[in-house]
Amino acid sequence: MRQVAEEVFHLPLSPRSSVNAYLIGDVLVDAGFSVQAGRVLAAVRGRVVTRHVLTHAHVDHAGGSRKVVDTLGIPVFAGERDLPTMHSGRMTMEVPAPLRRLSGVYANFKPVPEAQALAIGEEVGPGFVALDTPGHSVGHISLWRERDGVLVCGDVINSMHLVTTRPGLQQPPTVFTPDPARNRESIRALAALEPNVVLVGHGPPVINAAATLRAFADGLPA
Ligand SMILES: [Zn+2]
Repeated sequence: MRQVAEEVFHLPLSPRSSVNAYLIGDVLVDAGFSVQAGRVLAAVRGRVVTRHVLTHAHVDHAGGSRKVVDTLGIPVFAGERDLPTMHSGRMTMEVPAPLRRLSGVYANFKPVPEAQALAIGEEVGPGFVALDTPGHSVGHISLWRERDGVLVCGDVINSMHLVTTRPGLQQPPTVFTPDPARNRESIRALAALEPNVVLVGHGPPVINAAATLRAFADGLPA
C-alpha cells in the first residue's frame, strides 16, 4: 500500500497495478476480484475502515466486496443505478460470444444485497464528493477532491493497455462498456476538472495528470 496523496493510499491487487483498490481516509474504494479480497484485507489490517464504496458493480471491483464486508462488518455503498447488480451479483451486459463460455467468471460475483445508494454530491472520506460518471456501467461513480485535485475514477479511464499492460490513458474495453459514447462524455467531464492525480481501476496512478487527460479527452471521437 502506497500513499499517493494526503490520506489517500493505492492498493495494487495484481502485478503492474492491473487491478487496484484505494483507501481514502477510512473508506475502502473497490475490492478487486473475489480471489483478491484477502489481499485487500491484509493491506488495510491495523487501519480504521468504516465504509466500503464501489466505483461500479463489476466483478473485478465488487468481487471481493462480500468477503470484505463480512470480515470488517462495515456498510457498503454504490451508485444508485448499479444497486440492482450489487444486490444480484449478476451483470446484465451482453457478454461477447468468445467470452460467453467464461461469463460465469466475468459477469457474476457474490451478491451484496445490503449495498446502499451513495448519493451524487455526497461527501465521502477526507473531502471527496461523489460524481455521476455513467457509461462503463449505468451507475458508475467517481470520487473527486477539489482542494488538491485528486480523482478516483474507476473504469471511466484505464491508465494501461489491458492486454499489453503498457501504461497510457485508454478508454475501457468496449466489450465491458455498455455505453462507450456516454463513457466518453464522462471522460470529457472529468478532464474539465483538470485533476492533478488520477487513480483508476486498471493501471498505475497518473500524476500531474491535467494536461495528459485534457489531450486524451480532446482526441476522443464523439
Ligand atoms: Zn474494472
